[in-house]
Amino acid sequence: MNIRILGAHALESTTTQFVSILVDGVLALDAGGLTQKLSLQEQEKIKAVLLTHSHADHIEGLAGLAMHAFLSNITIEVYAIADTITALTTHVFNSVIHPNFTRMPSPDKPALRFHTIKPNRTQNINDYSIFAFPVRHSVPSVGYQVTDQEGKSILYTGDTGPGLPSCWESISPSLLIVDCAVSDRWISGAPALGHMTPGLLKPELVKFRQGKGYLPPVVLVHMVPMLDEEKEIAKEAAQIAQELNTTIKLGYEGMEIDI
Ligand SMILES: [Zn+2]
Ligand SMILES: [Zn+2]
Repeated sequence: MNIRILGAHALESTTTQFVSILVDGVLALDAGGLTQKLSLQEQEKIKAVLLTHSHADHIEGLAGLAMHAFLSNITIEVYAIADTITALTTHVFNSVIHPNFTRMPSPDKPALRFHTIKPNRTQNINDYSIFAFPVRHSVPSVGYQVTDQEGKSILYTGDTGPGLPSCWESISPSLLIVDCAVSDRWISGAPALGHMTPGLLKPELVKFRQGKGYLPPVVLVHMVPMLDEEKEIAKEAAQIAQELNTTIKLGYEGMEIDI
């Protein structure tokens, strides 16, 4: 399984994009900076997009991809929980902000086709086994475990505050991609915003290891790239990695991982 981090940050700039992760070139997890780092040919290979929640920094790239699909007469299959689909069809693809690509060019063969994901059950999507699990954020949100036909799997939390272990029982990923928006300077305020810091992540990883008997490598995403936050996160994450004798890396645009 090839994992390509297209966007790893909470702000966009010449060097940072909103979070989006591409699996094997065909399956996108969130659509923040989905299109900026992909050629048009690469965009045409995307078969499905899994959205964690409705916030703009996770769906922004969908409009460009949908326009491309519309012009190419192809359909992008988009999977999300019901709340996210309602938010997108009501407020985004509503013929005011963006064209209603769910009915264009025709209702039978639209540029975007939404499918409702139900949490806590496994679903097959394009040769992948997908398990969605609820996470703690300011709007209804899920994370995803994605497993390929060889049994390789990754887990992506999307935006989440602490309190993940209830989902650990159902999953066995080889890689964790986890929200870590800010450093421990914000440790008391981050949970209310539905985000993680290294210090909040540590007990989650400890519980994972206790429950599963192993701890996969961890990649952090959604970092705030200002106020030296990323440097602080890197320092704090390195300390935790040492204490837990594991690997924790900060994600970055262009990062590729093969598992
Ligand atoms: Zn969010
Ligand atoms: Zn976000």
